Amino acid sequence: MTNSVAQAGEELAGFIVRYPKLWILTGAGVSTDSGIPDYRDADGQWKRSPPVQHGDFMASHAVRQRYWARALVGFKALSGAQVSGAHKALAALEAMGYVELLVTQNVDRLHQRAGSKKVIDLHGRADTVSCMTCGYHMMRHAMHSEMAHLNPRFAALDAGHAPDGDADLETDFSDFTVFDCPRCGGILKPDVVYYGDVVPPARRLAAQAGLQNAQAVLAVGTSLMVYSGYRFCREAHGMGLPVVSLSLGVTRADAMLSHQWRAPLTPVLEEAVRCLEAR
Ligand SMILES: [Zn+2]
Repeated sequence: MTNSVAQAGEELAGFIVRYPKLWILTGAGVSTDSGIPDYRDADGQWKRSPPVQHGDFMASHAVRQRYWARALVGFKALSGAQVSGAHKALAALEAMGYVELLVTQNVDRLHQRAGSKKVIDLHGRADTVSCMTCGYHMMRHAMHSEMAHLNPRFAALDAGHAPDGDADLETDFSDFTVFDCPRCGGILKPDVVYYGDVVPPARRLAAQAGLQNAQAVLAVGTSLMVYSGYRFCREAHGMGLPVVSLSLGVTRADAMLSHQWRAPLTPVLEEAVRCLEAR
């Protein structure tokens, strides 16, 4: 394990030179420098109550009222977030030809905004919503402005920001009016894979296909606690690919890591890019 930023950046650059076709997996840690909070602490434990489950969201109107009322407050932080140095450094690695594929567990689209092109949004994207009955598709901000009109009292509230466009808001949600599908009245849901839901098979297969052409796996800012991300590290390890991690905390895959840099992401990635540029 390496902790010093300069040393970690230099070692990471050396690793990239040795394995120049990287399959990168990113998690919440990459976006915390953009001001988006994450769910877990350095030990991989929940910092707050776990996020909404797919089954509960679909089954309960009260759960949806709570979800959307909180999102009305919290989503502003997600949609207004700026790319961090980590996003920019990862985009720079792609521009330098070192990235075979970048698979992100984040739903904030900040990798794309930073200029990364070979990106799979494993868990979907938070800026669009779809009807679970008829497939009607709309932008999240358009839905939010409809809901703000329907719920002026909630729209005026403020609260601490929570992960995935949620907010730390506790109040009586029973008079919140949820905006339903304008075409069929069905349930609108963000195009995000919730806990308890599965990654669409085509997306999972595309991510797996990228492993076939990669020389190593670099996990960045993820505890790998969620199976849908962890599975790729396990598969890569089984294929004999080196798996390394850059994160501030423990990961579920620690036992299979060839190396782990436990250090702040942005300065280490920026240092690695500087080293690679200087070669
Ligand atoms: Zn519909």
